[in-house]
Amino acid sequence: MNVRRQTAAVRPELDAAIAQVLDHGMFINGPEVAQLEAELASYCGTKFAIACASGSDAILLPLMALGVGPGHRVLTVPFTFFATGGCIARLGADPVFVDIDPITFNMDPAAVARYLDGLSPEELLRVKAILPVHLFGQCAAMDPINEVAARYGIPVIEDAAQAIGAEYKGHRAGSLGWCGAFSFFPSKNLGGLGDGGLITTNDADLAAKLRILREHGSEARYFHRMVGMNSRLDTLQAATLLAKFRHLDAWTASRRAHAAIYLDQLQLGQVQGLLLPRQSPECLHVYNQFTIRVQNRDELRDRLAAAGVASAIYYPVPLHLQECFAGLGYKPGDMPHSEAAARTVLSIPVESSLTDDEVRYAADRINEALSY
Ligand SMILES: *Cc1c(COP(=O)(O)O)cnc(C)c1O
Repeated sequence: MNVRRQTAAVRPELDAAIAQVLDHGMFINGPEVAQLEAELASYCGTKFAIACASGSDAILLPLMALGVGPGHRVLTVPFTFFATGGCIARLGADPVFVDIDPITFNMDPAAVARYLDGLSPEELLRVKAILPVHLFGQCAAMDPINEVAARYGIPVIEDAAQAIGAEYKGHRAGSLGWCGAFSFFPSKNLGGLGDGGLITTNDADLAAKLRILREHGSEARYFHRMVGMNSRLDTLQAATLLAKFRHLDAWTASRRAHAAIYLDQLQLGQVQGLLLPRQSPECLHVYNQFTIRVQNRDELRDRLAAAGVASAIYYPVPLHLQECFAGLGYKPGDMPHSEAAARTVLSIPVESSLTDDEVRYAADRINEALSY
């Protein structure tokens, strides 16, 4: 994605935000951090928001708050960015993968129920959390996931890294589970000038614990009742994110308008074997990615590259088949929908800084390439 264009468009506001921080000099825990937390809590519809150093830490910290460690299991999907599963494994726990719904690319609630229903009471005690991902900017089917989670008393952590502003039944991502994890990686819908993350929650106890964990586990400085880490959001990042946040709704509207052009133009093309992303009726999709599926994906990718249209494969290898997770014992064929997605997906340009003509150009090249 073209980060430079977006940066150039808001450059004066970024310069002003940076100058303000340089002037007051509170580089750690400056006032912009608390302001960003307050504004994003309100935007997501939660009581609390806790900023941290990355989206990965925004997943890791709630798992730490739950005491997740060796011998524990956390349920998630294999078709996602590595961090989702990596954070579970970093704490010494086992990621347990359940397959996705092939239409939405998101966690299949029936697969969660099948897994949990099959466990003995002792095994159930080891399952510490369910971690659905709102992939590509569309929320997972949260009602049925929450329902089965509640039946077994297991907390749900939303990996909302790609889904700021996305809605499920009129409620925003980050307010749909026990807590939500967001990322400000530059290519996300609200991208910073580097790494950053944030956790949203309505649970006051969790919010308090997360604030302690992100500062080495110390509530009063130099006294530690628990072991935390250094995972603060820099004041400079918070200040520039606040400036960019003013544009988020307009940028989301632009992504959705670009998606509408693709849905219209690619359908007109009537090409064989092309699957377009589908917005579920209960969702508002914010299109962090516009991801199509085609059988001859690699050929299409080459043709688009030759025509000057950038595309990307998110994600070529599902997590259950990653080398580092070989010890978990999964094999090809275990997660057929995730594996099929990994073979056929292609994400095409949808970011807000594109012009409508550029989107139409990309759509035309895809229709051309596929109508052979
Ligand atoms: C980006 C992303 C993360 C991790 O965020 P970072 O800020 O890069 O650490 C986690 N999960 C998903 C689904 C992501 O897309």
